[in-house]
Amino acid sequence: MADDIFGEIYKEMGANPIINAIGSVTLLGGSTPNKKVKAAMDKADSAYVPLPHLQDVVGKRIADYCNVPSAYVTSGAGAALALAGAAFMAGNDDNLIEQLPNTSNMKGEILIQKCQRYWYDRCVEVSGAQLMEFGDESTATESDFENAINDNTCGVVWVANEMSPGTVVGNNIMTNPLSLEKVIEIAKKHNIYVLVDAAAQIYPLDILGKYVRMGADAQVVAAKYMGASQSVGLALGSTEMIEKIANQSFTGYEGRRIRGIGRPMKVDRQEIIGVTVAVHEWVTMNHEERLAFAEQQSSVMLAPLQNIAGVKAEIIDNIIGNQPFGVKVEIDEKITGISAEQLVDKLKSLDTPIWTRNGSNHEENIIKLVPWALNTGEDKIVGENIAKLLK
Ligand SMILES: *Cc1c(COP(=O)(O)O)cnc(C)c1O
Repeated sequence: MADDIFGEIYKEMGANPIINAIGSVTLLGGSTPNKKVKAAMDKADSAYVPLPHLQDVVGKRIADYCNVPSAYVTSGAGAALALAGAAFMAGNDDNLIEQLPNTSNMKGEILIQKCQRYWYDRCVEVSGAQLMEFGDESTATESDFENAINDNTCGVVWVANEMSPGTVVGNNIMTNPLSLEKVIEIAKKHNIYVLVDAAAQIYPLDILGKYVRMGADAQVVAAKYMGASQSVGLALGSTEMIEKIANQSFTGYEGRRIRGIGRPMKVDRQEIIGVTVAVHEWVTMNHEERLAFAEQQSSVMLAPLQNIAGVKAEIIDNIIGNQPFGVKVEIDEKITGISAEQLVDKLKSLDTPIWTRNGSNHEENIIKLVPWALNTGEDKIVGENIAKLLK
């Protein structure tokens, strides 16, 4: 939450700021680092420090907070996926590290279940790895997985989502993938690595590092969901895998003089300090209070939306993951005279635009309001403006 006048700095620059009722999305800026995080980031300016050393030191702390052997700070979960892909292929071999993204003479294929293909799997391919699918659109079997493993396979990506199969998330319906337990068991048998994208899996707290404790080699987390800036993320993993990841990165490039693909994905020392404080805050804060506040903001958004003809508005009661609560607004266009899509467009063209979560393919008549990124008082503004347009 910001104390400054709404969007003043953007207006001075000639940009049009918006009210964000979508939540933590990269398109809109991802997150607002909290006060403690910002204060720590400011203090980082007081001196310079060798970054391989700083990464080692904070890596130990973050690993401790997340109950895993080792951790490394990356420029977003996306970069952690790219570095992990490179680490799977090149490991600690400096010649191979410098050869990527050219994967000739190394195991350059990473498997993914067809039903788990997702928006960010492209980040793994940045390393040069080729993603190879197994299974079908809705599921995959143990033999699908085993049959897909060949001499070029170095690893498998598994996409974590605690929602049950059939749940609609954005434009996707949750499928029924081969379980991580089975994936780990088979991967170990064939000596290939397991990478878990758990970017948004940050609550309940036990989930931080859970997949590493289950036996995955690395688990990536997006710090944008935890009160750090959206430009940082974490790779959590085994000591060996995190060392390999560090060796592909900008600290390896500058510290070891080994020219890995990670050089363009660098992070500031301020960001490294900031994310360390943010993770500590996250694992020690009062989450009941956090959830109660999100529920209260959702109630404020909901209040003006009740008792409008053709509109069914209700609180979303999810507390798992990164964006708890919210409001689901179902619109009967025949009665309101305005479709969900038209409503979303109208909200975006207000003097102070309001961005909401779009109805997706499966929920065309629905908009979702997320309190996560709202400034003080914006919950009321969002609810009242939507009510006005629907009446
Ligand atoms: C946000 C997100 C990412 C990318 O994380 P960044 O930190 O923005 O690079 C990857 N995977 C999932 C599931 C995400 O939600």
